[in-house]
Formats: sequence, C-alpha cells, structure tokens
Amino acid sequence: MYSWLITSGLIVLTVALTVPTAGVSHFRFGPWWLFAALAALFLAGQAINLHLEVGRQSMTVALVEIPLLLSLFLLHPLGVLAARVLAGAVVYLWRTKDVTKYFFNVFLFAAATAVANAVVVAFGPLSPTHPQSWVVALSAILMAELVTYLGVALVISVVQGGLTTRGLLRNAQPMAAGLVCAVIGLIMLLAIQVTLWSLLLLLGLTVAVALAYRAYARFLSEHQKLDQMYELTRAVRRASSEGELADILLARVREMLRAEYATLWLPASGRYPEVLLTAKEGVRGLLDKAPAPHSLRAEVIEEGATRAVGPKLGDDRERELLASSRVKDVITVPLRSGSATVGCLECANRLGDLHLFDHADVALMEAIASQTAVAVENSRLVERLRFDAYHDALTALPNRHRMITALEEAVQVRAPGEVVALLIFDVDGLRDVNDSLGHSAGDQLLAEVGKRLADRAPAGSLVARIGGDEFALLLRMGNTEAAVGLAGELRTALQDPMPFGTLRLDVDTAVGIAIHPDHGSEPEMLLQRADLATLAAKGTQAAVQVFNLGLESRSVRRLGLAGDLRRAIDAGDLEVYFQPKIAIGRRELVGVECLARWKHPTHGWVAPEDFVAVAEHTGQLGRLTDLVLREGLRRCRQWGDEGHPLTVAVNLSPRTLVDPVFAGYLEELVQEYGVPPERLTLEITEDGMIAETDRPLPTLRRLREIGVRLSVDDFGTGYSSLSYLRRLPVQEVKIDRTFVQGMATDEGDHAIVRAVVDLAGHFGLQVVAEGVESELALSQLEEIGCDVGQGFYFSRPLSYERLTAWLAARTEVSPADSGDDRKLRVVP
Ligand code: C2E
Ligand code: CA
Ligand code: CA
Repeated sequence: MYSWLITSGLIVLTVALTVPTAGVSHFRFGPWWLFAALAALFLAGQAINLHLEVGRQSMTVALVEIPLLLSLFLLHPLGVLAARVLAGAVVYLWRTKDVTKYFFNVFLFAAATAVANAVVVAFGPLSPTHPQSWVVALSAILMAELVTYLGVALVISVVQGGLTTRGLLRNAQPMAAGLVCAVIGLIMLLAIQVTLWSLLLLLGLTVAVALAYRAYARFLSEHQKLDQMYELTRAVRRASSEGELADILLARVREMLRAEYATLWLPASGRYPEVLLTAKEGVRGLLDKAPAPHSLRAEVIEEGATRAVGPKLGDDRERELLASSRVKDVITVPLRSGSATVGCLECANRLGDLHLFDHADVALMEAIASQTAVAVENSRLVERLRFDAYHDALTALPNRHRMITALEEAVQVRAPGEVVALLIFDVDGLRDVNDSLGHSAGDQLLAEVGKRLADRAPAGSLVARIGGDEFALLLRMGNTEAAVGLAGELRTALQDPMPFGTLRLDVDTAVGIAIHPDHGSEPEMLLQRADLATLAAKGTQAAVQVFNLGLESRSVRRLGLAGDLRRAIDAGDLEVYFQPKIAIGRRELVGVECLARWKHPTHGWVAPEDFVAVAEHTGQLGRLTDLVLREGLRRCRQWGDEGHPLTVAVNLSPRTLVDPVFAGYLEELVQEYGVPPERLTLEITEDGMIAETDRPLPTLRRLREIGVRLSVDDFGTGYSSLSYLRRLPVQEVKIDRTFVQGMATDEGDHAIVRAVVDLAGHFGLQVVAEGVESELALSQLEEIGCDVGQGFYFSRPLSYERLTAWLAARTEVSPADSGDDRKLRVVP
C-alpha cells in the first residue's frame, strides 16, 4: 500500500523533471547505434553484480554507473532515461516476481536518472575535456545515487518499520562504489575521445579484471566457507545435549546455505524416538516439522545418497514431488556413521527471490554432513547412555538411580502440609515363576506389573523399577493415610491374573511405605526404610505396611549379628530355656518346650526370631538346632533318670525339614542320649510343613518312623486347614498364642479355638494352647476341652536352674501315682 504510494511519487518526480528537458535544443539525439550500444552496456551493468568484502562487511555493487556516465555525455536526456529504464525493466523481470517490488524498482531507476538528467541540463552541456563537466557529471551521478538510496531507505522503513543508524550507514556504502565506477567510466570516455582503438585496450582490461574478480570471489567464498565450517564443527562438538546440538547445527546450516529452513531428521531406531527438528528463518527455537515432503528424506535414508531438487537441480520426477509442497528447492544429505545412515540433514528454500541452490551448495551440504555426522551420532549415543543410566532396560521405566534423584527433588520442593510418599511394591512369587516357567516368563510378569503400575498411578507420580522384583512409586500427598489408601488401591488394581499362554499367573504384591518428613529426608534412607516396611508387609494380611522404627532396630541389628552369633555358639554362650507344658484337666506337668536364649555382650537379650533368622541366612542353623536338641535331650534323659520323666519340645526351622540327612542324624542323636523317641516333640510351624509343597514330607515320614512326635506350631496363622494337616504324620497342634490371648475378649478367637479343639479331637490330634496368660483363659480352655496349656500363667521360659527351683516350689508328686515314674502336679 505505502510502497505503491512511494512508486507513484517516483513517477510524478520523473515526469516533472523530464518534461522540461524534452525541448532542450543543444542536446543531440545521436545515431541509433550509439543508443543501442549504451542500452546494452546498461543491461550488462545492471545484470552483473559484484560481491565485495571490505573488512567484515560484504556488499553487492552493480556496474550501472559506468554506462550512466557515458550516456550523460553522449546521449540526449530522453535517450539516457530510455536506455536506463529499459535495462532495469528487462533485468528486474528476472530478478523479482513481486509486482509491487518490480514497479518500485523500475520507477526508482527512472526517478534517479531524471534527477541526474536535470543536473546535467541545468549545468550542461558537457564536454569530456573540460574538468568542470567532470564535476557536473559526477555530481549528477551522486544525486542519482542519493535518490536511489533514499527511495530504498524509505521503502525499507515503511515495510520493516524503521531503520537503525547502522542499517542506514550500511546501505550508504554502495554509493562510494558507484562514484568509483563513474570515474572509471569517465576515464574510458577520455580514452575513446583520443582514439577508438582504445576500445581494444578497455576490452582487454575488462577481461583481466573480470578474471581477477572471479578468482577473488572464489577465494573469498572458499575462505568464508572454511571459516564457517570450522566454527560449525567446533560449536557442534561443544554441544552437550541432543537438543543443544540440533539448535546449533541447524541455525548454522541455515545461515551457511542461506536457506529459509534447515531440518535434522533422525528416524526412530530401537527404543529411541524419532527426532525431527527444523530451524526457520525469523523464528526463534526449533519447529517439530519439516517443509519439504517426507518421501524425499525417506529416500535419502534408504539409499544413503544425497537428493537435491529445484529449478537447477534434480530430475522431473523429483521436481514433481516438490511441486506439492511450498518449497522451491531443497538439498537433503545423509548423515553417515560408518556404513549406516543414522539420519539426514536438509535445507530448503534458498533465500532471495532470484537465488537458487546449485551444485556448489550441494557440495557444501555434503561437507557439513560429513563433518557433523559423528557428532550427531555421538549425541545420540550420549543420549542413549543417559537414558540407559536412568532407565531400566526391561520395563523402560526409570530406575533406582533416577528414583533417588527424583526423591531428592521431591524432598526439596515439598510444600508445608503435604508429605512425600515413597511406596515400594514387591512382586510375590517371582522366583517361583522363574523356576517353573523360565526367566522370560518372569520378565513378562515384571514388564506387565510395571505397565499396570505406570498406567494406574495417579498423575504426578513417578513409577520406577528399583530392583529385581521391586517397583517404587513417588508422589506428594496430603498425609500418610492417603498414601496407605493409595497403596491398597493400587495393590488391588495390580491383582488381575495375567494371562500367560494357557495359564493365568496371579499377580500379588506387598507394599511398604516410607514418608518424608516422618522417616527422613535422605533418598537412600527413605528407600531403605520403605524396603524394610515391604519386608514386614509380606507377613501381614493387608500386605501394606508403613515404616516404623521397630522394623529398623530389628534388621539393623541383624546385620551385625552374624559374626557375633558364630562366636557365641563356639563359646557356648547360647543357653536353652525351658517353658512348662501342663495337661489342663489334671494340672499335670507333661513336659517343657526348649527355647534358645542369647544374651549379646552389648545388645543384651536378642529376640530368638532375630538370631534364628541370622542363623538361617548365614549357614549356622544346623549348629543352633544341634545345640538346642542336645541340651533338650540331655535334660530329658536326666529327668527320666531322676524318676519324673518329662517330654521335651524342640523348634525346627522349615529349612531343617528339607535337609535330607536330618532324619538320620536325629535318630543317632536320640540313641546317643538314650531317650525314648516319643519323649521328643519337634515343633514345626504350619507354613514350614506345607509351604515348600511336598519337599518336607519324606523327612516328616522318616521322623515319624523313628518314633518322635511332630507338632504343628503357630497353628491358625497360616492357610492350611485341619483336614489337610490330618494327612501329615503329626500328633499335635499348637494353637497360636494370638488366638489364646484374644479368647477372653474376642468371640471370634474363642470360636476358632473351640473349633480347632473339636476338630483335632475328631482327628485324634492332641491340642496345645500356647500363650495362656490368665486364670480366665485357663478356665475357658478347660471348658472347651483343650488338652495342654503353656504360658506365662504357669511360667515364663526358665533357665535350667530356675526351672529346678520352680519345680520344687510349684509342683508336687501326684498322689494317685505310685509307680517308678512320678507325675508332677502343678499347685497354685
Ligand atoms: P514359639 O515356638 O511359638 O515359642 C513360643 C514363644 O511364645 C516363646 O517366645 C515364648 O517365650 C512365648 N510365650 C510363651 N508363653 C507366653 C505367654 O503366655 N504370653 C506371651 N506373650 N508369649 C508367650 P520366644 O522364646 O521369644 O520364641 C520365639 C520364637 O522363636 C519361637 O516361637 C520359635 O519359633 C523361635 N525359636 C525359639 N527357640 C528356637 C530354636 O531353638 N530353634 C528354632 N528353630 N526356633 C526357635
Ligand atoms: Ca514352639
Ligand atoms: Ca508358637
């Protein structure tokens, strides 16, 4: 709009200045061939642009001032105008497709020429031999340049909204070059004045200058390209990430090729996602699409060969392909790493209406590709290593490493009134799946659990695989209760059986929870504590456990105990305590349970659960069992010899039952101490008897053959039914103490104890109630008809010496008994 206004102004100026000159009489029109020759010179001058480099500035100079000076001397002003406008009009037909631009330029030439004419008319006529005429002519050309300059400046300021002083100065530089051209024209004119033969010399000079310029231009651009290439490689090497690399690479490539777009495409490979990034002229940052058709890049990757398409490049089929897009020309080069093509680099749309990519540009692109392919591949490698370092290969979930970083961050940004919850999900029975179905089945199970957890985790949570069968979820929440609720929900959501071939695998998890700030701020500590809670969760019905300090003291102590336990067993520091078992109806002492005791020199009494676990895990279980068995049998023999025989009960770990030599060893032991085998009861927990499927069965049968009694310990805490137990060779059931303790207050517990007693009687099993702590419990058990009781009500577990004292104080020989073996009755 404004451009047209300016163009109209130029037309008015041209006409206003030209009309008065039309009738000027002292200007000759001259012969037509002179006009034709000068018009041709104008054409050449306009068409040939010289690119010059001055300091750090580069500029483009047209050579029109030479013909302009000549024609000012040799032609009528109207001829000058006609020749100049004709040349401009013809050349700009090629140079621009934009109508506004075209007319603006043509009339700018017209106005500038009209101004020059006006100066000459006012101070002319001109004569080549008069220095005053030189001044007039050069002033006329200077005026014309000024008009051109102001016209361009005006349009630029209108179109681009303002011009900076620097911009104004830069645009002024060609004016100086124009004056130099004008002087050259003047010298040529003077030479021609002397003799027309000088034209030969001038021609020779022109050819020489042209050749020199070409060499200079080539040198210049080579030098420039080398410099840019060096800069590019350096910058690309410095880039520290794929994103930064793409940023630098594309911006530079776009600049070097003077392209509107530069694109980097790395197709997806393996589990690494596709990268498609484009730098566009005038746009900050990168776009995630490309202007040129995708098929072109695909061909480049497939064939590993360059594709260059445009008016000057490629074949018809390829140009057809390009026609569908808004790209006029494009060069796509493969990025090769070794023999593989890892991606491609592309530039599209050479900037400038008249400019197109040519073969030199293709060569430049290929050079850039070969210089940067390694860096690009490396960045991918780095990215991959970075990904590997933070992700689990099987599930592609973040790994423990990443979880630690995330925990650190979460702890730092936690808002007051919220907690950071760390949930650890431990997959149950993974080892069974691995053992029975193979490791790939186990992997599939884990991948499925990871997927389900990631799918169902609330927004904002981070799910990671932090160990073999452990997944962790990190989330900021309102409070601990919310975390427990979430744990339960997710556990249920994970539970759907997973189809595996014709099988369906059960997916069960135990969840441990650690909370920041309650349980610490250090990521490692939170993870360790959540882990401990997970371990504890496995033993509970809900299978969800929040960390508490009790869990830690136990496990931390266990860690340091292994060596101490070994020394204690060697030194005979482990003791055996005895707890009486009483036949409820007759209040008769029937036997004792042997319980191991260990007083650690610094920790004090260590819970048997702890040191038994340590013994199990450090290969000392056999020695521990041996120690208790020997002490039990020794006392058993002794009591028998003393005339009041008592049974002894010894606890066995489930692991002992899968030891194939244990039964034989026990038989020898019983013979060694000369104890009737039926006086020894072996207590094995309910889970120990059945959890390991059929493996303990042969040992149980062998033990039964030897004649020792077998008892199911902690009955009711496991999952077995009494009728199942009947098929095992056991004679006794020990109802777990939690039921017995709860019996007085909880009807459910009472009902369970009653049912166990009834059924056991039915199957011919003896029932022992452990944990009898009160008179009330005892009377209830009596009423139900339970055979034997054991508990603090009668006595705590006692050392041999204290048991002897207890026997003396609390028992008397049963009056009804008169044989060799006296029964002992407990007295209140
Ligand atoms: P257990 O076999 O169930 O042993 C009975 C536990 O109940 C003993 O705990 C005993 O002190 C406790 N107890 C007895 N009467 C009462 C009562 O009235 N109220 C309460 N609250 N508790 C009562 P202790 O000695 O701490 O033993 C714990 C567990 O350690 C035993 O459970 C047993 O499984 C294991 N254990 C102990 N000694 C050995 C051993 O020599 N070998 C093996 N393998 N395990 C052992
Ligand atoms: Ca026991
Ligand atoms: Ca028990």
